[in-house]
Amino acid sequence: MNTPNSGTPLLEMQDIDISFGGVAALRHARLSVTAGEVHALIGQNGAGKSTLIKILTGAYRRTSGTIRFDGREADFRSPKEAREAGISTIYQEINLVPFRSIAENIFLGREPRRFGLIDWKTIHRRAQELLDSFGLQIDVSKPVREFSTAIQQMVALARAVSSDAKMVIMDESTSSLDEREVELLFTVVRRLRDDGRAVIFVSHRLDELYALCDRVTVMRDGQTVAESPMAALDKLQLVTTMLGRTLAAVVHEDSAVKEANLAKRGSTAISATNLGAGAKVTDVSLDVHSGEAVGLAGLLGSGRTETMRLMFGADPAERGSLSIDGKPVTLKSPQDAIARGIAYLTEDRKGEGIVPELSVRDNLTLVCLRTLTKRGVVDVAKQREIVDRFIESLGIKLRSADQPIRELSGGNQQKVLLARWLATNPGLLLLDEPTRGIDVGAKADVAKIIRELRDSGLAVLLSASELEELTAVADRAVVIRDGKTVAELDGARMSEASIMDAIAYGSGEESALAEAVDAKEGQP
Ligand code: ADP
Ligand code: MG
Repeated sequence: MNTPNSGTPLLEMQDIDISFGGVAALRHARLSVTAGEVHALIGQNGAGKSTLIKILTGAYRRTSGTIRFDGREADFRSPKEAREAGISTIYQEINLVPFRSIAENIFLGREPRRFGLIDWKTIHRRAQELLDSFGLQIDVSKPVREFSTAIQQMVALARAVSSDAKMVIMDESTSSLDEREVELLFTVVRRLRDDGRAVIFVSHRLDELYALCDRVTVMRDGQTVAESPMAALDKLQLVTTMLGRTLAAVVHEDSAVKEANLAKRGSTAISATNLGAGAKVTDVSLDVHSGEAVGLAGLLGSGRTETMRLMFGADPAERGSLSIDGKPVTLKSPQDAIARGIAYLTEDRKGEGIVPELSVRDNLTLVCLRTLTKRGVVDVAKQREIVDRFIESLGIKLRSADQPIRELSGGNQQKVLLARWLATNPGLLLLDEPTRGIDVGAKADVAKIIRELRDSGLAVLLSASELEELTAVADRAVVIRDGKTVAELDGARMSEASIMDAIAYGSGEESALAEAVDAKEGQP
């Protein structure tokens, strides 16, 4: 293989810009990768990692910027062109042909031939040798669809190994794998690297990154904010870089109020014990009392949304247990959860929340409509009373309750959605990113509403990516990482710093940040 000298990057992307519908998704993004390294590309969800990769592989067209690959200006117009130039991409949903055999998939499109005919014997032998060398004992003549995602990824990697791919890109491809499968995959990735190929590895599991990667590029809000050897950044630095917070900014206040709130909270409204489903939620334990607001903290992708979905019966829990008001329950569906007094405000306001063409009135009463309907007829007077009451109490700004909700600002739409759930008279509110994407004024309003609901005795579990917003509203925080509860921080112990510390290190190392701060302050 033609390996460039070390030092000369195999890939150099510079000043990459792209917009979607007038919104910039990447701004002067850069990425530089050398042959023979595993390069971590990290950032929170939406930071622009996949977009940058899609630009490289020709799936998206950049607005501006330059790409050099393997010593040449590169401008791939399709993933096929990129593949032909030696860039192999492995997604979570793998692009193999499900009904063809493993061996066929490995050599698809470049089958060895004898006398012009496809040489099946050679294909099978070489495929078997390849997978044996990965330590996989599987029958390569079986169709791909009979195997797990992990095996399918190994097949995709084997395809890359057997071709002359100079670069292999793995975009979140480990997120659905279990630990043993990940370890197996890493063995293969290391082999690719030792062969002198470059691997770009996108993952938000910090431990994986340290175990595997040589260097790291950190993205935030469409920009490249750090490039470094992996070992030169500790986990805390990595997390603060991803979140865009510096140590100096991490100081906190008004814990006395939170302590007082916790002291007068009511009994346990819901409790989750070792809750799990799939690979996204592995082991979540938490409880929420009435009269308290608990913050569910963690990086995007850590399993916060998935945890809330389990607590709302939107997905079935596979492991662990839930109890409501002290009684064990199995939530069979959202209807089941609603009937038990649970409300869930989704993070996806546009996709799952509002029905844009319907009026504010209909949107607001969408969930409670059933209780307002007798023999198929809606009690219009009652509906009007509810709508007016919430418009008034939540301060929803609008022209008329009959106007389509899409005409309202994001903040007012969010208040309508909150009202939709409050109209069901819940005991527990699950709020996923309630302040995301709304303006500052509306954020303050929503925070105030949440506090009032808490004070009126509701149990509130909320998530917010902005730790500042989370700690402003929550009385205590439960921190999850990779789908697992790693820390619980009450009142005075909850701060942006302690939460970040827990995100970076998990529990039991809470002094790490304090030490880092001390060390920093000790410097001249
Ligand atoms: P990441 O992979 O880091 O989670 P993405 O690259 O998927 O982030 O997304 C970066 C930003 O670009 C997000 O705000 C996302 O909504 C936006 N985006 C990506 N692809 C599209 C698209 N096809 N249309 C509109 N917006 C997009
Ligand atoms: Mg992505």
